[in-house]
Amino acid sequence: MDDRERALDAAHRHAAEFLRTLDDRPVWPRASLDDMMATFGGDLADEGADPASVIDEMARGADPGLVAIPGGRFFGFVIGATQPAALAADWLVSAWDQNSGSSTLTPTTVAMERVAGQWMLDLLGLPASASVGFVTGGQLANFTCLATARNAVLRRAGWDLAERGLRNAPPVTFVVGADRHGSIDRAARFLGIGRSETTIVDSDEQGRMRADALEAALAGVDGPLIVCLQAGEVHTGAFDDFRALIPLARRHGAWVHVDGAFGLWAAASDSLRRLTRGMEEADSWATDAHKTLNVPYDCGMAIVRDPADSIAAFRTGGDYLIYSGLDPWDVTPELSRRARGVPAWAALRSLGRVGVARLIDRLHSNAVRMAAGLASVDGIEIINDVDYTQVMFCLASDAATRALGDAILAEGTAAVTGAEWRGRATLRCSMSSWATTDDDIDRTIAAFRKLVEG
Ligand SMILES: *Cc1c(COP(=O)(O)O)cnc(C)c1O
Repeated sequence: MDDRERALDAAHRHAAEFLRTLDDRPVWPRASLDDMMATFGGDLADEGADPASVIDEMARGADPGLVAIPGGRFFGFVIGATQPAALAADWLVSAWDQNSGSSTLTPTTVAMERVAGQWMLDLLGLPASASVGFVTGGQLANFTCLATARNAVLRRAGWDLAERGLRNAPPVTFVVGADRHGSIDRAARFLGIGRSETTIVDSDEQGRMRADALEAALAGVDGPLIVCLQAGEVHTGAFDDFRALIPLARRHGAWVHVDGAFGLWAAASDSLRRLTRGMEEADSWATDAHKTLNVPYDCGMAIVRDPADSIAAFRTGGDYLIYSGLDPWDVTPELSRRARGVPAWAALRSLGRVGVARLIDRLHSNAVRMAAGLASVDGIEIINDVDYTQVMFCLASDAATRALGDAILAEGTAAVTGAEWRGRATLRCSMSSWATTDDDIDRTIAAFRKLVEG
């Protein structure tokens, strides 16, 4: 075996060993950042080391600082595990080392990404002709879609942004819901849209944008307009009412963007599709594959109805670049990049249409089971309507809720993360992992019961 094979062999052994420990290890890391800095830090040695022994050293040191995200009882943030086919495909992506911006240079990986995009558009009921840009995640998907939107609404107003810049451009009215994800604000910041220039529309008790409030906000608005809606509020999992909101926005000539980082996938399930009804009428959609589809980081998708709008925003003029129709680098801000869409192809191929629907349905039924179990614990109150994958709950006081959040991480059975909702401290279980079993849920509920009821 040469160095590469021996290093890969070591990685394979250590990976399999880590995955085998997931069921029994504490979910939250046992070591701090300082501990891990001490393990891996110090001055860089003058002399290097054998590749396989570097991998051995890495694996030996890493363990106490690893969080059991790929296991069945990590419920923090909105984070999925990794499906087997997607994980293995990700290894091949690194071995193949294809710089996947150009369809001429890397036809294999560009084709797999293109097919993954087509499959996904079909599963989600989105227009088959839309462009799909593979980016690092939901944040960059929102940024990419909104950069495309800004360019398009200004072009429709007769302003060539690439030529004339933003300084003297007609103002863009930028409308968001009160419970938008923070990545929308960050995307706006990167795009030169300030906080005081953002129109914030009221939402209801689950975080859905109110149609009457949008109508009032848009009264008298004309000119370049972007309206951001949401499929899956990060705390409650609630979906905006697209059938009511999109026609309202359209009446004012808006570009409508949907942030559906995890929620867009509801459209792949027969029983949950009703949540997304009408969203296919939007102009752009941001989603993640590394959340609900359970592929490795980093994999998000920026979807734009008209590929001409993507090209107008992103095609670059470098005369040494090879063009052939629509290249990956035409639809996102990146040039060189890994073939991050290939694991999505493998995940979709391995699940099939029925398997994707079953995965989404199970994440939802896991949430229902978790909510019912937690509600049976004395003192726990479920705060949200469990329509999708999120379960938010609290105890009688903020201090007790926060203490319970710390206690469950220390106890080790499961990981949940905290949030603030309508002025109250809360805890959240995001049911986003294919690996979660009924037993994982029951063990988690039992751990909470013991901590709360003693
Ligand atoms: C997670 C999330 C994002 C950001 O996605 P990343 O993949 O973390 O960049 C954006 N919007 C919503 C609703 C999310 O849940």
